[in-house]
Amino acid sequence: MKRKPPYSPAEVARLKELDRTVVWHPFTQMKEYSSEGAPIIAAGEGCYLTDIEGKRYLDGVSSLWVTVHGHRVPAIDQAIIEQLHQIAHSTLLGLGNVPAILLAEKLVAITPPGLEHVFYSDNGSTGVEIALKIAFQYWQNTGHPEKKRFLSFYNAYHGDTLGAVGVGGIELFHHIYGPLVVHSLKAPSAYCYRCPYGHPGKDTCNRECFAAVAQLVEAHAPELAAVIVEPVIQAAAGMLVWPEGFLGHLRQLCDTYGVLLIADEVATGFGRTGKMFACEHEGVSPDLLVVAKGITGGYLPLAATLATRKIYEAFYADYAELKTFFHGHTYTGNPLACAAALANLRLFEEEAVLNRLQPKIKLLQTLLEDFRELAAVGDVRQAGFMVGIELVCDKKTREPYPLARRTGHRVIRKAREKGVIIRPLGDVVVLMPPLAISDEELRTLCAVVAASIEEAVA
Ligand SMILES: *Cc1c(COP(=O)(O)O)cnc(C)c1O
Repeated sequence: MKRKPPYSPAEVARLKELDRTVVWHPFTQMKEYSSEGAPIIAAGEGCYLTDIEGKRYLDGVSSLWVTVHGHRVPAIDQAIIEQLHQIAHSTLLGLGNVPAILLAEKLVAITPPGLEHVFYSDNGSTGVEIALKIAFQYWQNTGHPEKKRFLSFYNAYHGDTLGAVGVGGIELFHHIYGPLVVHSLKAPSAYCYRCPYGHPGKDTCNRECFAAVAQLVEAHAPELAAVIVEPVIQAAAGMLVWPEGFLGHLRQLCDTYGVLLIADEVATGFGRTGKMFACEHEGVSPDLLVVAKGITGGYLPLAATLATRKIYEAFYADYAELKTFFHGHTYTGNPLACAAALANLRLFEEEAVLNRLQPKIKLLQTLLEDFRELAAVGDVRQAGFMVGIELVCDKKTREPYPLARRTGHRVIRKAREKGVIIRPLGDVVVLMPPLAISDEELRTLCAVVAASIEEAVA
């Protein structure tokens, strides 16, 4: 088969048929998918993807929130090739490998102060599982076996493995697996547009959600191992931005009541909110930090769970004490992925990516103002380069569209026709462009999405 698009019509037909009949796509109703003829991506460059028929699309969601400097970045390509010339994989179970060591050093240097030890895995969900298990075992190892519950938030998303589902709070994704999981205590989330306390908007906010989580932590502290949160923004929830000060508030609560704080920065890490890590917005250092998605610049699957020295030391003992963290994945610390991550982080420094991002965030903010005028747009939420545009059927009453109308999905299909790839969260249209996107591409992205919204609701 030919390697470069456009593929021949026969090849296109064969791949499309196989894609809709043999591949079972994630988070996808295959009955819907199989009738839609979604593009099959064969190549990419910069912020563009090219399908097998040779059609180009702007990558408006960073290939599901992972791409940072764009596709086919010479420095990352080269780093992977050089690592390939050494070795593709060797295990971290009982052996070291060079890129995993150097990356651990780098991660400790760039993450919030106090995080000194790096435990690798290969996706965000397992990174979260690791944080939960470490938090649980930390209390076992230090003589507090009663501290075994977790507190998380409604609308939270921490991944799809069962531990992560237990701390998840998105009814649509998580409800069916209820009987399979250990449920966390749930505190209210700050869905300010639909404020559970009836005080939508900054002006009327009474910060009831601050008080609610305080009450829960205080009441349950003796049995709580940790609080887990997506700092600054609950992403998969539909890009729900926490009120300012919420993360600092949680840090303080955890300190006061002797509970660990787990920051899930799988989505927010590596520049997405405008700082390297979202925790920096409030000067917070968590006890455990989970990173994944953007860590390799969107090249290869890799995750890391970072822990403080205090936590690490609770596991550091003679073997017979059985304080070992008995957990690991076969591809833990994969050298190719770690080499890609090192190259990704070098680019952040060499190209001053975060400095150059700031004016683009401002431009995006300006462009988003126009969306508020659209009849179907109820709310526009932004944290840096993470954006959620919530569509509603009635702007006044904030009534959502019926589920079966698939409004968000209609929008992304319109956008696709116009050469832009995005993916919604229900009826929230998500924009999460690569940090490398140009001003002009950013304008195109917003213009196409606005037109697509208008067409999809017409
Ligand atoms: C995507 C995501 C995860 C899960 O990561 P996977 O790599 O998809 O397993 C966990 N937490 C947050 C906040 C995420 O956005």
